[in-house]
Amino acid sequence: MTGRIIDGKAVAAGVRADVAAAVKNLPAQPALAVVLVGDDPASQVYVASKAKMTNEVGMRSIEIRLPRETTQDELLARVAALSADPDVDGILVQLPLPKHISEPAILAALDPMKDVDGLTEASAGKLVLGKPGLRPCTPVGCVILARTERPDLAGANVVVIGRSILVGKPAALLFLEQNATVTLAHSKTRDLKMVCRGADILVAAVGRPEMVRGDWVRPGAIVIDVGTNRVPAPEKGEGKTKLVGDVCFPEAIEVAAAVTPSPGGVGPMTIACLLRNTVLAACARRGWTVPAPLAAG
Ligand code: NAP
Repeated sequence: MTGRIIDGKAVAAGVRADVAAAVKNLPAQPALAVVLVGDDPASQVYVASKAKMTNEVGMRSIEIRLPRETTQDELLARVAALSADPDVDGILVQLPLPKHISEPAILAALDPMKDVDGLTEASAGKLVLGKPGLRPCTPVGCVILARTERPDLAGANVVVIGRSILVGKPAALLFLEQNATVTLAHSKTRDLKMVCRGADILVAAVGRPEMVRGDWVRPGAIVIDVGTNRVPAPEKGEGKTKLVGDVCFPEAIEVAAAVTPSPGGVGPMTIACLLRNTVLAACARRGWTVPAPLAAG
């Protein structure tokens, strides 16, 4: 049996098209501010592509690039100013921050109404309480991708491997919100392979290249691979590398009903959901009605 490839790029393009359509129906143009501290090359690429896509969907992008030596107080002042600015709808502080800056301290300074990454304590609390709020982008992307294969997740057995604040924990809560039966597995889980084999939907957010093998996957399951791991690729030449997921894709696709590739699966959904969150944040803060089709999701 060969499963389907869940095309995250295509699904993400659809979400961005919905965002662009929604933006056209808003009374004013929302603005997303992205703050980058330091010169980490990967973060620079993310920030540039976020700015490009923000503009493409018709929103205003504000890029703030600060030197690595920026102090915590200076960054706090920047975030506080953006939080107070009535023309800014969403704020994203690119993580990780340099070691001398406390991430929780910065997140605490961020207006929760503008928390488009869904990482503040206020947003996390609303998620746990089941109240409306801004949800973390990558886990929302996982749920959207799973629903392309199984629109009604009620009663599905979902196993999430990984319990990080960024991905695993909120993913588990979001699948629970969809009335799935959720197991949250982690490094201390006993007999992980057997736990995974019970999953109708298996979400891997571990950070270990190709850890999930084909015989961990229940025949007919849906596999969502969040992992992005850089590994050596001698077949491409000396010193070359490539990205792989937490799932061994060639093995999983032989067993599963559908699998997200990595790259090209969850990754593109993260930015699309960030843009979606910016519209939702603008509507909530400014008292606008959320335009269709974003209102539905
Ligand atoms: P993280 O903070 O390092 O968390 C990893 C989780 O995996 C932890 O909960 C850990 O368990 C668990 N784990 C580690 N080794 C394990 C093992 N052998 N068996 C079972 N569980 C194990 O990582 P993260 O931030 O959640 O990211 C996970 C992956 O997703 C990474 O590859 C990252 O690059 C990727 N990611 C992708 C996107 C995207 O947009 N595509 C976004 C975010 C992250 P313990 O808690 O017990 O230590």
